Amino acid sequence: MSQSDSLRALRDNIVSRNPAEPEFHQAVNEVLDTLEPVVGRHPEYIDAKLLERICEPERQIIFRVPWVDDTGEVHINRGFRIGFNSALGPHKGGLRFHPSVSLGMVKFLGFEQVFKNALTGLPIGGGKGGSDFDPKGRSDNEIMSFCQSFMTELYRHIGEYIDVPAGDIGVGAREIGFLFGQYKRITNRYESGVLTGKGLSWSGARVRTEATGYGTAYFVQEMLAANDHGLEGRNVVVSGSGNVAIYAIQKVHQLGGRVVACSDSGGTVHDPDGIDLALLRQIKEVERARIAEYPERRGGKAVYVAGKTVWEIPCTVALPCATQNELGADDARTLIESGVVAVAEGANMPCRPEAVRLFREAGVLFAPGKAANAGGVATSALEMQQNASRDSWSFEHSEQRLHEIMRNIHADCFETAEEYGHSGDYVLGANVAGFSRVADAMLAFGV
Ligand code: GLU
Repeated sequence: MSQSDSLRALRDNIVSRNPAEPEFHQAVNEVLDTLEPVVGRHPEYIDAKLLERICEPERQIIFRVPWVDDTGEVHINRGFRIGFNSALGPHKGGLRFHPSVSLGMVKFLGFEQVFKNALTGLPIGGGKGGSDFDPKGRSDNEIMSFCQSFMTELYRHIGEYIDVPAGDIGVGAREIGFLFGQYKRITNRYESGVLTGKGLSWSGARVRTEATGYGTAYFVQEMLAANDHGLEGRNVVVSGSGNVAIYAIQKVHQLGGRVVACSDSGGTVHDPDGIDLALLRQIKEVERARIAEYPERRGGKAVYVAGKTVWEIPCTVALPCATQNELGADDARTLIESGVVAVAEGANMPCRPEAVRLFREAGVLFAPGKAANAGGVATSALEMQQNASRDSWSFEHSEQRLHEIMRNIHADCFETAEEYGHSGDYVLGANVAGFSRVADAMLAFGV
């Protein structure tokens, strides 16, 4: 069988073995699309069935999460944890609490995480988890009740050397606190390295909160510089207004760019003078309110349009930082017409495949999430390092490490693409570099 025939057979097999999991199929296809040159050079990967093995999670856990709301009503949600690959280190990846979470969704995120974590160059495997629980509108007490129940099952599957969860959409410092508290209570161990994203006074790490957004901004800066562009004075749009978006905005501003728009699921704020970050944080982080309130409190300097996306606002750089598949072909065309130069994914797989194809055909610099948003998990690995050595680093040192890691990831993707004759193709560079690292370790371990 020729190489492309065997890749096609593998894709068909994945679809039939994992029915009704479109996000997982999409993520697998995106990676397999770029691996032909590397397996061409390494027939040993084919002989060891590495592609087949890498697409099959090591373990998948599904569990019941019963909890009681403030009125006394009992609810039942479904919990998931997937350990996708542990060739490079313990399973590592976030927990997502959102009504859309399903096994296929967690599988897609876990699969992406394997290559992303490999790109950081740090000793972490890939995993992901979460629940279809909807935290929106729930009281602190209800969130606590849910988190405690979730951990009452999860605790037996995780550990510093086994699997280390963290946050993702719907899971921030508050949830990690409730989860860690329950783990500690049940196990009678202060095992700080079992979770990352912890609070600073209880073994958390500086810069972890900021890391994903900061890292995305650093990646864009590197990508622009490597291609004779700069961020200075450029208009940037950022979708979302959660943790990734907020710190991407902050770092873009520090690096001299101007973020003129951000959004939430209701609509978009356009602020031509640049987003007022203190106000945005007050609304989103402190009040947990909607950005529709932003223009009035900004003294009318900005506008909010319900139902509109940030992609309609002309920009040089676009950073999708909300959620998967949020940017489609029409959005890509709008951005290309308005003269976008670079797109970097702060979220996981926010651009649909057709949009990515259009960007690449139009010569737009495109950074996939597994490279551009790896700063979050990389800083989680730094948190694990600090926990293991019972140490706590300064903000400056931690940020310097993050910056260095993002520079290395950029160089790795850039150079790998060049080496394979696809100069400027960050998708190929990221997939091939991440895959090779995992594949070599798996090969060394035998079947
Ligand atoms: N949820 C983040 C991601 O998608 C971070 C995971 C972690 O820190 O383990 O990479």
